[in-house]
Amino acid sequence: MAQLLFTIIIVILIADFMLERYLAFLNIKQSGKELPLLLRDIYDTEKYAKQQEYFRTNSRFGMLTSSFSFVIILLMLIFNGFAWVDGLVQQQVQSPIWTPVLFFGILYFANDILSIPFDLYDTFVIEQKFGFNKVTPKLFVLDKLKGYAMTLILGGGILVLIIWIYTLTPTYFWLWAWLVVTGFSLFMTMFYSQIIVPLFNKQTPLGEGELRTEIEKFALKSDFKLDNIFVIDGSKRSTKANAYFSGLGSKKRIVLYDTLMDKMTVEEIVAVLAHEVGHYKHKHTLINFLISLPYTLVLFFAFGFILQSDVLAQALGANEASFHLNALAFSILYSPISLVLDTAMHVLSRKFEYQADAFAAKYGYGSQLESGLKKLTATSLGNLMPHPLYVFFHYSHPTLFQRITAISNS
Ligand SMILES: [Zn+2]
Repeated sequence: MAQLLFTIIIVILIADFMLERYLAFLNIKQSGKELPLLLRDIYDTEKYAKQQEYFRTNSRFGMLTSSFSFVIILLMLIFNGFAWVDGLVQQQVQSPIWTPVLFFGILYFANDILSIPFDLYDTFVIEQKFGFNKVTPKLFVLDKLKGYAMTLILGGGILVLIIWIYTLTPTYFWLWAWLVVTGFSLFMTMFYSQIIVPLFNKQTPLGEGELRTEIEKFALKSDFKLDNIFVIDGSKRSTKANAYFSGLGSKKRIVLYDTLMDKMTVEEIVAVLAHEVGHYKHKHTLINFLISLPYTLVLFFAFGFILQSDVLAQALGANEASFHLNALAFSILYSPISLVLDTAMHVLSRKFEYQADAFAAKYGYGSQLESGLKKLTATSLGNLMPHPLYVFFHYSHPTLFQRITAISNS
């Protein structure tokens, strides 16, 4: 049985890796195709050559990083690396709570340290070369340290809580763990902008000026409160621009990157803002949260069931079952299911994006949104021709071509 489970785990990992490589391959092949008429005014010849180079560089780099982690995890499984770490931890600490915490802590930091050279290369070589990077070495280190502190406090805290629940009630673990995680994610959805974002960025209320005046006009028409609009210093890390909607109820806010300001006209920014208000008016954050409830319930139920198993730890090369080895095996065994569910969430997310675009168009910002989206794509050297299958699995937004076509038709 353990041998069979081990084989299944390996097959899942290989299948997942091959699927990702195949999608990336399709995407690279597609990128060289001729552009539809609608997209030809986005780049001039020189800029398009630069975009193609940026895309190829990122594709190659993605191939390198994913192959690297694939090989590492495969070696860990084949040579019983996880069981070895488990043995090491058991020698130091023997506690139903702290043994798993130390085990996951070691894996987390080992994985993080291995990924640092790749992060450095991505930030200071690739992004730097194409003129996007604004991160200084000092900021890189600071971000890293803050990230560790956050993982330690939030990740560690929730992990301790979940394991503690398991030690109290293995039978009803799934229900209690689900309640705790749901409460935590509701709290984070509401307070993310107030608690987490300020650790990394500064958010300021929208200042006086032409932009505010124009936004005021739209806010009146659409009945959205201006106090909920903030500008964030995205320029601290990258020249790329963005905007997003976050929060629930009274904690909702729209955040505009300061980098939008020097790239777009006032009307285009209002159009992007109208799109974000569309997310709010259609209750997209709330719907996403509600969908996550049955999803995580099924997840914890399956997890609780797997935790009772004795053979999973053996499949990973250990003699004795343990919370952490079972959890690790579960995370791999569950990945085909989560691939299906994540893909379904992406389908829904793309539907939401169309709705938000249509909302902006309804208020007369259709053509401004089109030109705004084109500029956003151009200034971030975005890929104009992703493969439909790649889009299906990975894109949270429809492609630029799909969005422009839909906006023009609405
Ligand atoms: Zn959106």
